[in-house]
This record gives sequence, C-alpha cells and structure tokens, in this order.
Amino acid sequence: MSKRVSDYSYEELLNRALSSVKVSGGDRGVFNPPRISASIMGGTTIVSGFMDVVEYFNRDVKHVLSFLLKELGAAGTISGDKLILHGRYSGSSIENTLLKYAKTYVICPVCGSRDTYLTKERRITILVCTACGARTSISSRV
Ligand SMILES: [Zn+2]
Repeated sequence: MSKRVSDYSYEELLNRALSSVKVSGGDRGVFNPPRISASIMGGTTIVSGFMDVVEYFNRDVKHVLSFLLKELGAAGTISGDKLILHGRYSGSSIENTLLKYAKTYVICPVCGSRDTYLTKERRITILVCTACGARTSISSRV
C-alpha cells in the first residue's frame, strides 16, 4: 500500500527554504509565494497552483516552466491552470525548485525585494530591482 508518496516534511522544507530566502529580514515585499499541490496519478504528476506561483513571481510562464523541467529532468506541459509532469515528483521537490528559480530570477540579492524584472543585454540576463535599483547579472542556464 503506497498511498502517500511525499508531503511529509513538506511544511518543514518550505519553511526552511522560505526563511533562507528572506535575506534582509524583509520589511517590504516579504516573499511568501502561493502553495502548490502535487498529486500523482499513475505515471504523471498533476500540479495545482503552478500558475498562481508564476503570477506571483511575475515572470513568463515559459521561462519558469523550462527552468522547472530542466531542474527536475522532467517533461511536462501546461493544461488549463494545471501543470502536468510526466513522471512522479513530490510537491516538496517542485516547491524547492520554484524557490530556487525565485532566488535566481526574482528576488533582488541586494535588498531582498521581489519587485524586479528581467532584461537582456547581449546574451546576459540581468535582474533589475525597481526597489533599490540594483542590477544583477545572472548566468542563465535557461
Ligand atoms: Zn533591490
């Protein structure tokens, strides 16, 4: 009987990941993304709430998705407001990957704000912070 695959130390993982994200002790723009939930059906993982996270990040869904798929080594598609992954993935591993994305592409490393956007100069992706004006170049793998 293998019913529940994951979601055991999920809260714990998320909290830990979140507390390490809040670099500046956060007065403004505390980073608190919406939760996703993953349910495994046969050989696929159905992820709810993915679009909410993308919206929260304020990033292109294709960009977030391609990062996620690369990191997980997964294949997947968006279907309506759900993300369908081929293979079995735990909610915590998906969540952790999204946090990794946020740390790289969303959160300003200088002030910790998520009030940022991405721009490209030549072939370099730059994270521009509208809160403090910092420009951080990202060695992009996506
Ligand atoms: Zn900043």
